[in-house]
Amino acid sequence: MSLANKVLVALGLGLLVGLIINISGIGDMPWIKEYVIDGLFKVGGGLFVNALKMLIVPLVLFSLIPGILGIGDIRLLGKIGTKSFALYVATTAIAITTAITLAALSGIGTGLDIPLEEAFQGKEATKSFTEILIGIVPPNVIKAMANGDMLAIIFFSIFFGIALLIEIKDSPDVVKFIDQMNRVVMRMIDMVMIFAPYAVFCLVGKAVAELGIDIVIQISGYFMVIIFALLFHAFVTQMIILKAFTGLDIGLFLKKIRNAQTFAFSTSSSGATIPITLRTVQERLGVDKSVSAFSVPFGATINMDGTAMMQGVATVFIANLYGVDFGITEYVTIVVTAVLASIGTAAVPSVGLVMLTLVFSQVGLPIEAIGYILGIDRIVDMTRTAVNVTGDTVVTTIVAKSEDRIDIDVFNDPNAGDFEDVHVPNKA
Ligand code: ASP
Repeated sequence: MSLANKVLVALGLGLLVGLIINISGIGDMPWIKEYVIDGLFKVGGGLFVNALKMLIVPLVLFSLIPGILGIGDIRLLGKIGTKSFALYVATTAIAITTAITLAALSGIGTGLDIPLEEAFQGKEATKSFTEILIGIVPPNVIKAMANGDMLAIIFFSIFFGIALLIEIKDSPDVVKFIDQMNRVVMRMIDMVMIFAPYAVFCLVGKAVAELGIDIVIQISGYFMVIIFALLFHAFVTQMIILKAFTGLDIGLFLKKIRNAQTFAFSTSSSGATIPITLRTVQERLGVDKSVSAFSVPFGATINMDGTAMMQGVATVFIANLYGVDFGITEYVTIVVTAVLASIGTAAVPSVGLVMLTLVFSQVGLPIEAIGYILGIDRIVDMTRTAVNVTGDTVVTTIVAKSEDRIDIDVFNDPNAGDFEDVHVPNKA
């Protein structure tokens, strides 16, 4: 069985086992909770997510620098950057508009009478826009890497790449070293992926076992609209956009990005998924490093279509629940705030909720009402993260195609870049 299929089977089994633990109530038995959910599942999933996160910084560094060398022209770099940014923002705006329209049409939340069990404690809504802007240039690059400040790491790598471009003739060893490091880190991803099926099983099993099924039933309207909106955006809207801009085979594209989607779903973090997304886009879709090494980590940081959609649907849902009527001004405010918020949302689990406080305060809804959707946010987070990552791959492919930086033969080869079996030699 191919690794992608094994991972899918693991996902299905994880869902099943999680549901059994949840519905049968055995999740409340102390030893199941301690040794299975908070033991085996937590350790199995946590180790894998950490291994992926461990590879992000070296991967971005050693992919982006050769990527810059591959572009070879600073103006072209500016063009790729501008195109990606514009597409990321435009697709997020389309996403949230779709979400609000669907939510408003369905009338979710109207006439519902449910108790607020757990009020949301308004946390400090991450960084302000000016802070994000200043933070792009890291005062201390080691600290930026330690903190995983993606925009700062991207900035440093581009700067380094440009300097190396100027010094390229006199620094052949540096260029060679970075290229070889890139191969080694890519190999490390393949090695981590051997454990992917077990990890996915643990991650999904834990999330579903801990899900409050009764809450899902209580706010099933919200749940169904958001999940439908997310699936619609990932499989219809984004695919239409991809087809319109590139003419590429959508079926093949979806098949090839399945791994990245599954990992985003299992880990709830587009940041932790960067190694898989980058590898998928480069080796499976044939996108040149010069585009992907920049566009993927950049997208993981600023592009959050799914998160913006959740914010749109949640806002309409809570407004209806409280009987607040929104006019066009409020809707436009939601779109603008959610697009900006999604740029500022860190690519880690659940931050979307914190950014939702920003949207709520803009349109005058009480922050503690986020408590209504808290109980099911984990499963919504998993789904919206998969949509966020799908968006990163779509925009990266469009930009690459428009700059003629995609290898169509690789794209059209169904087996290109499949994860290989890694055989570690016994003797050095
Ligand atoms: N978990 C999301 C991501 O990493 C962010 C969020 O919506 O909470 O893409």
